[in-house]
Amino acid sequence: MQTIFDLNVYQPLDGVYHMQDATGVCATLIVGAERALLVDTCTGYADLKAVVGALTGKPCIVCNTHAHLDHIGGNYQFDRVYLNQKDFAVGCLYLSALDIRPAALEHFAQMGLAPDQTRTEQYLAYRMENVEALNMEEEIDLGGVHVRPVPMGSHSPGMTGFYVQERKLLLGGDSVCLLACLNFPEASSVKQHLQMLKDISAIDFSFLLSSHSKELLTREDVEAMLECAQSYDEAKTSHYADPFYPQFGGRMYLHESQKGKHAIIVAKRRIVNHAEDHKA
Ligand SMILES: [Zn+2]
Repeated sequence: MQTIFDLNVYQPLDGVYHMQDATGVCATLIVGAERALLVDTCTGYADLKAVVGALTGKPCIVCNTHAHLDHIGGNYQFDRVYLNQKDFAVGCLYLSALDIRPAALEHFAQMGLAPDQTRTEQYLAYRMENVEALNMEEEIDLGGVHVRPVPMGSHSPGMTGFYVQERKLLLGGDSVCLLACLNFPEASSVKQHLQMLKDISAIDFSFLLSSHSKELLTREDVEAMLECAQSYDEAKTSHYADPFYPQFGGRMYLHESQKGKHAIIVAKRRIVNHAEDHKA
């Protein structure tokens, strides 16, 4: 691990950099022979563009896994960012009615991480002006490394993972992860989440990186996520409140898998899920 401009940078696989900021949120940089791909831009206080520049001099394509503020926070630093258009409305909502950026800035300041005046203004003014629709059908050729977008709609409708073919690596964002939050209004039911996990299991990956963990996970962790979704039982949950969005309280369910791995799902209360299951 090395620390570059306030970010902890891990290199779990050849040409793969997983960068974690002080709030625990990660972005991933995949470097090929000709180009690089940056997936997500973290919470936005750090000079992510400078970190990417320190790791590679190659031209860099930037994509977001989904439109929550802790993954698009640093978008303002880049000329163009691609996002699944199913998440455009989610992004607009979080950048207006659900905007917590002033509170996030206060949180950064308390950690001694407040960005300078110029970056603070750019961060607060950002409205997805540089966002374009990600082509979900198009493989991204980085030169000897091929990456394809993988739909993972559950945590948010447009949540998109990325499969790095030559590394057998799947980027799971906030949907394929050990703590899957489905308590936000835009999230799917547990049933739909389970189906998504089954769908992605067909992909030939060996490794998994998710957006709130520095660990390189394996298929055993995904099995734990599947078991967790399969056995979800609201009677065995406890109340959960997100520190930044306490209005979206949910039910937290912890499962220990047959192989001793732990996975957690935070779901909406059953009455909401029930309605969604009928719609599906
Ligand atoms: Zn999220």
